[in-house]
Amino acid sequence: MKAIRVEQFGGPEVLQLSEVETPPVGPNQVFIQVRAIGVNPVEAYIRSGNYGNMPQLPYTPGSDAAGEIIEIGEGVTGFQVGQRVYTWNPRGGAYAEQMLCDQQAVFALPDNVSFEQGAALGVPYATAHRALFGRGQAQPGESVLIHGASGGVGVACVQLARAFGLTVIGTAGTEEGRRLVNEQGAHHVLDHTADNYLTAIPEITGGHGVHLIIEMLANVNLQRDLEVLANYGRVVVVGNRGEITINPRETMKRDADIRGMTLFNVPPAEIPGIHAALRAGLEEGTLHPVIGRRFSLAEAALAHEEVMASGSWGKIILLP
Ligand code: NAP
Repeated sequence: MKAIRVEQFGGPEVLQLSEVETPPVGPNQVFIQVRAIGVNPVEAYIRSGNYGNMPQLPYTPGSDAAGEIIEIGEGVTGFQVGQRVYTWNPRGGAYAEQMLCDQQAVFALPDNVSFEQGAALGVPYATAHRALFGRGQAQPGESVLIHGASGGVGVACVQLARAFGLTVIGTAGTEEGRRLVNEQGAHHVLDHTADNYLTAIPEITGGHGVHLIIEMLANVNLQRDLEVLANYGRVVVVGNRGEITINPRETMKRDADIRGMTLFNVPPAEIPGIHAALRAGLEEGTLHPVIGRRFSLAEAALAHEEVMASGSWGKIILLP
């Protein structure tokens, strides 16, 4: 089968399409014909050699994909050959024509959800759910600022928060991005490239400040986030690309919390519940992943350039 292999860390050009051996399917494993692959920023950080948790070389990148089961290992229950599924964190990497997954990393794909949309679920939607509800403890009636709402995680946050009864404020850096955030259900949309755009928050929140912030670029925004939080407010740090100086007094003034999160830290027992909630929202239509640019598997390098560029619009997909 064909897969992207990384032989050395570096720029997008190290993503090379190669012929790799088909792996044997072990007990409790599922082998999947991949129809669409989700591209996440973390895959670009890892490929560049700049990430905390690094794979051994050579490796195949990727954690999100959707497709059909073509083989089932001994002991697998609840799945059958031919079934449409999506995955999170496959064993050998998702940038491939086929992939091997542990059974617990495979989830049924509802009939009304396309393979491309299925490839947008594993990391972005699960992260959005964990950020809003697990770490952020969002409550209906609260307000949430989704700081970076036009990308894979942001769109998911907007849809989840809107369906749960929050007042949703989303930001994007382009006109198209802001239109998308509005269409996905945000009540208020701000431009994070404009001067003083957060001065709108007191007016929107009746002077109280915002209860919850889901932050996609903490190294740029964290200090200003703290300044627009309500008393007892929470900032959940989802994305960060560097360092920032903050004044801790802003947390004291409000009894505010800064809460980090990484999807890999979700307690394993909580993962099925997150995907059950996503499934319900997908089936009944409140959740509908938005697909942006599509690339062939051989164009993975272009997809990595795109995922690190500004001007996000939904989810970037690779098609094998
Ligand atoms: P993405 O699709 O590339 O979207 C990036 C988002 O960040 C876009 O909405 C972009 O808006 C926004 N952004 C750019 N500049 C910003 C600024 N100054 N202030 C606020 N937002 C800004 O990426 P993604 O998949 O949604 O992931 C978002 C971040 O979360 C990435 O850093 C990713 O690595 C991280 N992440 C973390 C976890 C975790 O477990 N902690 C899981 C998934 C993702 P414009 O392009 O419109 O400017």
